[in-house]
Amino acid sequence: MRSVLLVILIFFVMVLAICSVVAFRSRKLENKALSFLLFALIPPILGNIIVIGSTKSNIAEIGYYIYFIGMDLTMLALANFTFQYCQLKSKGGKAYFFIIRLLMLIDVVSYAFNPVFHHMFATRLTMVDGLRYLTFVPFFGQTCHRLLDYSVFLSAILIFFYKVVKAPTIYAERYTVILLSMLFGGAWQTFYIFSRTPLDFSMIGFAVFGLLTFYFTLYYRPLRLLDKMLADYASQKSEALYFFSGFNECIWANESGLDFLNITNKDFSLVPAKLRETFGEVQRRRGDWQVQETITQNGKTRYFIQEKHLVTDKKGAIIGSLFSVRDNTEDQLALKREVYKASHDPLTGIYNSMRLMERIRERLDDNPDTAYTVVFLDVDHFKLINDVYGRDVGDDMLRLIAARLPLCVGPDGLYGRIAADSFGMCLPSADFDEDVLKEKFSDIVVDKGTLVQKLVVHLGVYDVEERDLEVSVMLDRAHMALQTIKHDRHASVAHYDNAMRDNTLWGQTISSEVHEAIETGQIRPYLQPITDSAGRLIGAEALVRWIHPVHGFLPPYRFIPIFEQNGLIADVDRHIWRCACELLKEWQAKGYDQFISINISPNDFYFMDIEAVLNDLVKTYGIQPEKLRVEITETVMMTDADHRMGMLSRLRQAGFIIEMDDFGSGYSSLNLLNDMPVDVLKIDMGFLHKKKNITRSEVILRHTINMAKDLGIVSLTEGVETASQFEMLSGMGCELFQGYYFSKPISVEDFYAFCRERGVMMDEK
Ligand code: C2E
Ligand code: CA
Ligand code: CA
Repeated sequence: MRSVLLVILIFFVMVLAICSVVAFRSRKLENKALSFLLFALIPPILGNIIVIGSTKSNIAEIGYYIYFIGMDLTMLALANFTFQYCQLKSKGGKAYFFIIRLLMLIDVVSYAFNPVFHHMFATRLTMVDGLRYLTFVPFFGQTCHRLLDYSVFLSAILIFFYKVVKAPTIYAERYTVILLSMLFGGAWQTFYIFSRTPLDFSMIGFAVFGLLTFYFTLYYRPLRLLDKMLADYASQKSEALYFFSGFNECIWANESGLDFLNITNKDFSLVPAKLRETFGEVQRRRGDWQVQETITQNGKTRYFIQEKHLVTDKKGAIIGSLFSVRDNTEDQLALKREVYKASHDPLTGIYNSMRLMERIRERLDDNPDTAYTVVFLDVDHFKLINDVYGRDVGDDMLRLIAARLPLCVGPDGLYGRIAADSFGMCLPSADFDEDVLKEKFSDIVVDKGTLVQKLVVHLGVYDVEERDLEVSVMLDRAHMALQTIKHDRHASVAHYDNAMRDNTLWGQTISSEVHEAIETGQIRPYLQPITDSAGRLIGAEALVRWIHPVHGFLPPYRFIPIFEQNGLIADVDRHIWRCACELLKEWQAKGYDQFISINISPNDFYFMDIEAVLNDLVKTYGIQPEKLRVEITETVMMTDADHRMGMLSRLRQAGFIIEMDDFGSGYSSLNLLNDMPVDVLKIDMGFLHKKKNITRSEVILRHTINMAKDLGIVSLTEGVETASQFEMLSGMGCELFQGYYFSKPISVEDFYAFCRERGVMMDEK
């Protein structure tokens, strides 16, 4: 019996030691206090082990000392644990600890004097299991010791008891389990004291108390609390929740769930049928799933997310399921609004360009056997309508056009707004009828009191032949066709054809080659001589040429219009200007007095600071500015006139000579002449080359020349091809001449030869 108890106690000591370490390492709030308690339980048991294991009285006595003093330590640890576990933080607590620590100190000191005064206990020899066993005989001091330990123990029990009563029911459990294990250990101990058996079995109860406390503190989770919390949480959720058993009966539903199905009496059995009634067969689906459901009732559409989640046991068997329904109508409507906003034009309510292109793509892909036509519509002079009639009228016009589009494309067509005043359409080619389309827009009139104007639209048409092209390119092609009639008020429909495609390809090719061509001198100026009325050579106009290694000699019309559109014109012009400056520098060094006129494209203004570039050039090459004449056309002044006039004035002040090119070919020449700071008027060759009304042209020429003279402006006539033209113009008083009669534009080398013939620039070159 004795050895069995010994083994059991040794086992418990080891287990307690391990638990103490585990507790120490845990993250629980009370871990330190728990670890200390488990550790403090070891000395009393150890003391008992020594007592049970020894037959000598002095060793047994040591065991008893360890037992009793260890008991003090245990109680101290218990008090500490109690305070931590019950989260007591009162001032009384500090006093309490002070007193028990003091009393325990006295108790320990008192044991120290026991060998002298024998007032605590003595050992007495008996026989257990046929061996010597030393039990102990308590004296007065021992009773005091017990009283002290019991008081601490009792106070711990009382604190726990208080907590059980006072704490919310859900938490009472947490204290009850510890209280019960304390009562269990205490009862066993008490039983031993009164049973007066020599062997102390109560130590087992002691250890068991320690282990129960260990388990409950670290591992016990209050499941009822969890239940309650989950139920509370689920009840409060706005989404409808239904819990089903493995047999598909509803065991619980939250408030929202019952409300959703109009169940008033908490009769959960109605749930499955009602759900099927509302959502139909989707309810029968197996496994975990989620669906977005749309339900329309009384003309109102609502959206729900239904979700089913299966609950399985450890082996994977289905033991129940959770079903939830969440009304996400607001989210869905917001999403739809967003999608609508992102795909529709706010002004007209039709597709925006991005969405239109996506839809056209889909339409083409879905109907590979149907031929389609893409149409680009542009309102003529829409900016003018906006300016003259106001934005509101402009907006009304756009809405009016948008409203006509569905009539144009028919049931299988698509349409949308591409930009401010342009729209796109796509319809089966079989439905495309040019006349119908024209007719649809023929009667739109802007009417504002006295101002009545017919709205003109232009249509560009591309028959989709290359279906794999990006839709934006198809629209570009339709737009390109439109561009060809943009300024023609009579033609309203233009079709994209192969010539246009070739033109595009051509544009791409030469654009990609332009920089290399500049660097290698393929692009260079030709010079066309300019003479005075005596036929003397006084200067030349620099006209660009591209000597292309593959395509041969390219005159400006083959590339200038393209570069004017894509901005490369600025690079070409800067190059020609620089070449002109190089020549002038050379001429100046040799004492030649010739000037060179350079051309400025209206589009140069968008891509560079012309004033700065020109000033910079004359400075770099050290040439006199008046030798670099600047030709601009009147179209330059169509935009940003004030600013550009200012620039021309400054250039004149800097010494440049400004020439107005193609004078008389535009609309507002005379008007402009009033304000424009020019030195030379280059009269358009159109007047000379007129086949009809020749005399009238001559009248205009004469008067233009006279007017120039009266304004103090030098006149120059271009396109002089015959001696008689030259004589006539000289007779009219024209001062300068340029034309095939003298020379075509020629290469720089040929120009030198020409000069030598004429007796100017005699130097060998
Ligand atoms: P433009 O500035 O009006 O140049 C005069 C054009 O008339 C030149 O055509 C010239 O070859 C041509 N021409 C000269 N005399 C006669 C004649 O007696 N009869 C006929 N029928 N034509 C004559 P080109 O060189 O083909 O240039 C055409 C246009 O290209 C130029 O018109 C100018 O607007 C533009 N251009 C030429 N070089 C440049 C340049 O370096 N930069 C810019 N931006 N434009 C240029
Ligand atoms: Ca010119
Ligand atoms: Ca000209």
